[in-house]
Amino acid sequence: MSISSDSQAPKYKRILLKLSGEALAGDGHSGLDAHVLGLVADEVKAVTAAGVQVAIVVGGGNIVRGAELSLRLGVDEVTAHYMGMLATAINSLALQAVMEAEGLVTRVQTAIEMHQIAEPFIRRRAIRHLEKGRVVIFAGGTGSPYFTTDTTAALRAIEIEAGALLMAKKGVDGVYDKDPNVHPDAVIYRRLGYLDVINQDLKVMDATAVALCKDNNMDIIVFDVAQPGNVKRAVLGEEVGTLVTASGRAP
Ligand code: UDP
Repeated sequence: MSISSDSQAPKYKRILLKLSGEALAGDGHSGLDAHVLGLVADEVKAVTAAGVQVAIVVGGGNIVRGAELSLRLGVDEVTAHYMGMLATAINSLALQAVMEAEGLVTRVQTAIEMHQIAEPFIRRRAIRHLEKGRVVIFAGGTGSPYFTTDTTAALRAIEIEAGALLMAKKGVDGVYDKDPNVHPDAVIYRRLGYLDVINQDLKVMDATAVALCKDNNMDIIVFDVAQPGNVKRAVLGEEVGTLVTASGRAP
């Protein structure tokens, strides 16, 4: 089915889009890439125009990964994780600025309070923003060390009652049986069960995040954000990347 079929009703009315820091970093693994930020803004604009409510969780791995930084600098691990959470705020403000420049109305809510630059995370308020067509960006992770922004994404998706959690990957179009960058014969899974992901340790998201999705029956779509139109295809229910649900594996 074509993406241009504007009359097609979306399968999901509200989504949570997870963007890792690395996905925002362009070809490098650090910093922020203007092209990728613009691409994400275009994708989000297209789905909000179709009436879909969009919330976003942004990672921080392009700036700080707590565990790695702690080892490298000798900073205590809890502090390093807080530094990682602050990094997600930097990415969120960048994304907010780019999306607003494209005419989207946005709010950033943080799990660690930063009154001067963002609202605190208040679930009911976030839902109200979404109902008004505003894009809500959740920054600061869960607000607690030792968690990840994947777990944050699962948690927030459940809290705002999203229809699906869209896990944006950069340059990888779904979940494979082995690393497609190393093994040319790697095979993509179009459908997986939560237990397939957990038992085979497939690289979708960390185990805590998958378990949360499993317990709450949250659809997970793993897709390549670098392919224009993919977010809209996913919300329309077209086959994009890998869909993880309660029903098991299928080719
Ligand atoms: N982090 C944390 N608690 C959270 C979310 C994130 O302590 O709830 C820290 C953790 O140190 C992590 C860093 O923030 O390494 C950046 O987040 P993440 O690695 O999930 O970012 P991504 O890989 O998605 O860019």
